[in-house]
Amino acid sequence: MKRRKFIKTTAVSIAAPTILLSNQNIPSNHNNPLVLSTWTHGLPANKAAWKILSKNGSALDAVEAGAKVPEADPKSTSVGYGGLPDEQGKVTLDACIMDHTGNCGSVAFIQNIKHPISVARKIMEVTKHVMLVGEGARQFAVSQGFEETDLLTDESRKAWKKWEKEQFQSTPHDTHDTISILAQDYKGNLAGACTTSGWAYKLHGRVGDSPIIGAGLFVDNEIGCTAATGLGEEVIKTTGSFLVVELMRQGYSPNEACEEALKRIIKKHNRNPDFQVSYIALRKDGEIGSACINGSFEYALANKKGNKLHKIKGLI
Ligand code: ASP
Repeated sequence: MKRRKFIKTTAVSIAAPTILLSNQNIPSNHNNPLVLSTWTHGLPANKAAWKILSKNGSALDAVEAGAKVPEADPKSTSVGYGGLPDEQGKVTLDACIMDHTGNCGSVAFIQNIKHPISVARKIMEVTKHVMLVGEGARQFAVSQGFEETDLLTDESRKAWKKWEKEQFQSTPHDTHDTISILAQDYKGNLAGACTTSGWAYKLHGRVGDSPIIGAGLFVDNEIGCTAATGLGEEVIKTTGSFLVVELMRQGYSPNEACEEALKRIIKKHNRNPDFQVSYIALRKDGEIGSACINGSFEYALANKKGNKLHKIKGLI
C-alpha cells in the first residue's frame, strides 16, 4: 500500500504524529499468518515458526520456535551454540522477545545456555522484570530448568584461536548475522524475537542492540513491529526499531520507515558509513519492508505462498 493511501485510511497526518492509531483504523491483513526474518538462517527459522502459525498458533510461540532453530545450529556462527566468542574465547549471548500486549523479556551477556530466547520469554512470563544479565541471568535460567552446556564448538574455538593469533579487526558486518524474527498470527496479533552471540571477538561484557527493547526489536500491536541486525552500537544510538515503528505510525510505509531510520545513521557518518545495519518491518496490515545501509541484505518471508529468501541492495 502506498504511503499516502495508508495515511488516508488511518486518518493520521504527518503533522500530527503523536496521535495513536487504533486497530479499527488499520486495514485488516488478508495475508496472515506470515513470518519475516533475517538472513539465510531465516528460512529454517520461518519453517519452524510457520508450523505453529499454520495451525492457528500464536505469533509469540512462532517467533520463539523460529529463533530456537539457529540457536541450536552450530553452523549458525552468530547465534547460540557455535556462535563466535568474545576476545576471551567466551560465548556470551543476547536475546529478547516481545508480544502483542507490549510485554517483553530480555537477557544479555548470558553464558552456557543454548536457548537465550526461551530464557527471555521466561523472564517476561514469570518475573516482574524485563531484563536479566550475565551471571544472574544464568542462575535464573538454571533455576527454571535450563540445562548448562558449553557453547563453544571445535570450529568456533579454532576461529577464535586464529583471531587471537592475528588480532584482525572484525565487525558485525563481516562476522555476524543476528536472527531477528517477526510474525503475525491468524488473529492478526504481532510478536517478535531477536537472538545473537553479538559482535565476534568483542570486549568481554559487550552487549549489543539485540536484547535492548526499542533498539534490536519493537512490537506495537496497533501499528507494526521491527527488528534489526548489524552494528548494534549504531542501532542503540538511534533507538532503531522503535523509530521505525514510530515512522510507520506517522504514515511511512514499512520500506520508507526502514530507509528513513537508516538515513539518520548514514547522515551521522558523513554519508559514508563503513558498516552494516539492516531493518525488517511488518505493518499491522501485513505489508512488509526492509532496508540496509551497505552492500546487500537478505530476509526470509514465509506466508501462504511459501518460504522464500529475498535480496535487497544497500542504500549507499
Ligand atoms: N546486532 C548484533 C550486535 O550488534 C550483530 C548483528 O546483527 O550482526 O550484537
